[in-house]
Amino acid sequence: MQSWFTFELDGESCRIENESARLTLAQFLSSLDPQYAHYADGNPWHGGSPVIIGETSGIAPRFRSIDATLILMPMLADAMVWTPEGIANLDPDHPAVGVLGIDHIECSNARRMAVLTLFFEGFYRPDLRRNGQMNEQLDSLVSRTAAVDAIRDAARRLFASAETRRHEASQKAAASGQQNEVWTGKKDIFNDRFTKSLFIKRPADELDFVDRRKRRFHRPKTTADLQRLQSQYPDARLIAGGTNLVDELSRTDFQNLISIEEVAEMQMIRTNQDFWEIGAGVNLTRVSEAIGGEYPQFLKALTRFGSRPIRNRATLGGYLAVASDIGQLAPLLIAMDARVLLLSADGERDAPIFHFFEGKGKTILREGEVIRCILIPRANDSALASRGMTTRLCDTYTVGPRRSLCDPFLTAAFAVELREKTVAKAWIAFSGVANKPIRARQTEASLAGKVWHEETVFASLNTLFQEIQITKKDVGYANADYRKQLVMTLFQKFFYQHPTPRDVKPIEQGITQEFSLHDQPFFDSVT
Ligand SMILES: Cc1cc2nc3c(=O)[nH]c(=O)nc-3n(C[C@H](O)[C@H](O)[C@H](O)COP(=O)(O)OP(=O)(O)OC[C@H]3O[C@@H](n4cnc5c(N)ncnc54)[C@H](O)[C@@H]3O)c2cc1C
Repeated sequence: MQSWFTFELDGESCRIENESARLTLAQFLSSLDPQYAHYADGNPWHGGSPVIIGETSGIAPRFRSIDATLILMPMLADAMVWTPEGIANLDPDHPAVGVLGIDHIECSNARRMAVLTLFFEGFYRPDLRRNGQMNEQLDSLVSRTAAVDAIRDAARRLFASAETRRHEASQKAAASGQQNEVWTGKKDIFNDRFTKSLFIKRPADELDFVDRRKRRFHRPKTTADLQRLQSQYPDARLIAGGTNLVDELSRTDFQNLISIEEVAEMQMIRTNQDFWEIGAGVNLTRVSEAIGGEYPQFLKALTRFGSRPIRNRATLGGYLAVASDIGQLAPLLIAMDARVLLLSADGERDAPIFHFFEGKGKTILREGEVIRCILIPRANDSALASRGMTTRLCDTYTVGPRRSLCDPFLTAAFAVELREKTVAKAWIAFSGVANKPIRARQTEASLAGKVWHEETVFASLNTLFQEIQITKKDVGYANADYRKQLVMTLFQKFFYQHPTPRDVKPIEQGITQEFSLHDQPFFDSVT
């Protein structure tokens, strides 16, 4: 056991010794220097206090914005952290720092700093070139400022300038056959002080940290070591992204925490012809980067989940283990026909996502059992063909009081697999209606063998009405009648947005068409 560790803060090595194992980064920063005082006031539900970390667990290193109020200091051992203040002080001419100069933002300095971190992360994102992605990067935080348009304009210019640099670098790299490395972000095309240290950053080491009150924080690297620690400390609590648990720790402390952040098998994303295997410790942003092309509905669901700094930390395994009755991802995971793979000293077992939940906060997980990974069947043409299907239509809808950073009223997800025009299998799932996500099995069965047509959908509505009982108490003004109506209308919306096997992509019908330009680039294409 050790009582110290180091991490890098704004380019300087920083040694942490004899500090509480429950100290958050926000608490640490606010006591460090008056310029960081605002970190003490960060509220995650109002956007929190984002900083930047260097992430090395994916296929290429990335800068990610994360919320300093939801990170325990031992989670940062060996990590690289940049505060927005540090970025602005060290490189006042950095293109992302320009946000500080936008006129009429009319928000606090803390909020300006938060926006700076989103600009900084977005500037280095190799995939960011569509309107929908820009919304996903900025929403939640930017919508809480008075100058949304000014910030969006500045972001558009900033991200387009990065894209131009990437385009130029790819033209140069074409000669040496390294063009792909530019677009996947494996090659450092910026070569500035920030990327230089990101690209030489090493994966974190194993850690066994203990504080003065004998509270321990373990960070094993293998599932075997994880299991050894679990048998040594049977009362230990797992910690993944910490977005749920760090807040819980302020009310209920646990003597031993075991982080799964460096457990290689739980950080992996693998695929074959039939499945995606997503390690339980993979954060939601990385999941979306891997499967978003094949499952655009997952990207859509994430735009309603927390904020970018939350999604950069929250893991798929953590999400499932929390077993929220209003979670926005469970219905979609059911509609994707996903399964969980659970690991314990007794071996492995798996279960469909639908059977994993037993109630609010309750799952089939047994003492000492962990979620190792999530298996999602492939949905591309060849995978469908091997299952004898021709098309998979799938979509998800969340209704809530705001777009994000709130408790949604209800989430629905639907999928049908078609052989030509006939429904072979259907999935209809909801959260926000009972104490756990539910599935409309009878309605699903009533669709099987029928032609995917308006009449089929209308004929099934009576069964759906009878089958779905709203037992969860009112969420805000969303009473049971309102949510029952949503159940019915969202299913019809699914049909009208995907009326034929050709319409895998939703047909837009909203009056505002707020999502209709999602796929369009937000700048003129670089030639
Ligand atoms: C501002 C904010 C916004 C949020 N928005 C949403 C939202 O829109 N929708 C939503 O559903 N949730 C939301 N949450 C809640 C939280 O972010 C999610 O529940 C998140 O997915 C938890 O994942 P995590 O990796 O951070 O889990 P952690 O906080 O690390 O852990 C949560 C629990 O899961 C257990 N656990 C973690 N990994 C495993 C594993 N592999 N096997 C077994 N047990 C495990 C832990 O022991 C712990 O009990 C929000 C939270 C905040 C603070």
